[in-house]
Amino acid sequence: MHNHSIISDGLLSPTQLIELAARTGVDAIALTDHDTTDGLEEAGVAARRTGVALVPGVEISASWGETTLHVVGLQVDPASKALGDGLRSIREGRFERGERIAAALQALGFAGTLEGAYGLAQNKAMLSRTHFARHLAETGKVKSIQAAFDKYLGKGRPAYVSHRWATLEEAIAWIRASGGTAVLAHPGRYDLKPMMRDEMLGDFKRYGGEAIEVVTGSHRPEQYAMWQREALEHGFLASRGADYHGPGESPIEPGRLPALHASLTPVWSKWAH
Ligand code: AMP
Ligand code: MN
Ligand code: MN
Ligand code: MN
Repeated sequence: MHNHSIISDGLLSPTQLIELAARTGVDAIALTDHDTTDGLEEAGVAARRTGVALVPGVEISASWGETTLHVVGLQVDPASKALGDGLRSIREGRFERGERIAAALQALGFAGTLEGAYGLAQNKAMLSRTHFARHLAETGKVKSIQAAFDKYLGKGRPAYVSHRWATLEEAIAWIRASGGTAVLAHPGRYDLKPMMRDEMLGDFKRYGGEAIEVVTGSHRPEQYAMWQREALEHGFLASRGADYHGPGESPIEPGRLPALHASLTPVWSKWAH
């Protein structure tokens, strides 16, 4: 229930992603590109051809105080005006943010990274830090994409640029306005102390969030039990998703994660009968 394509910062086309899922024996897959639903039409064509059920989705960048959260919307309607307008408004900020990231990298002695990153972004409207990281790795400035985040692009590193995304309340409202279900992506990845974590989960629920990811490629396996507990304690449905970005970058392919524990109610129980 969480995968990317070249329409945001993935490496496969929507068609290639669905074909990979079909080969793996996946019966249902969500395409959840960052801040855009533009890949869903192509994914739908491939899904009908291969017999895989497509869950139309999106992963929205949201600001909660100083923390950036990701909210996955599942079963969203890409034709929804509220969702489309909202996503466009946050995508637009990425142009200027990209320039600021490039300026910070320039100050560190790395020239030409804006052009380099844009050159790797198939969808120029969705320039991501991932494209900067790939460019730095491909040109030998760092030894891996991970190292690019660890040294320069990650939060608190010298080329990190803070940015105002949608508010958490807006992101959830857009998803709900389009008929979708709001799922908190990879909750274990946010750097929050226990009290703030509880407050964040409380806000997420109050604004209309219904599920959290428990088993995800963005959690270490030892984190699954903790987020299972949080889901049960706070009364959230549970989701499972690879957060797949592509071959060579994401070790866990769609359909390869362990099942959710039987005590959890899967988010797809809302629509899969
Ligand atoms: P952006 O939306 O441009 O800030 O880029 C966020 C994306 O960068 C995430 O969806 C991940 O794909 C990637 N990313 C963020 N932090 C890291 C990290 N520490 N290591 C590897 N990839 C990361
Ligand atoms: Mn990503
Ligand atoms: Mn994410
Ligand atoms: Mn993701």
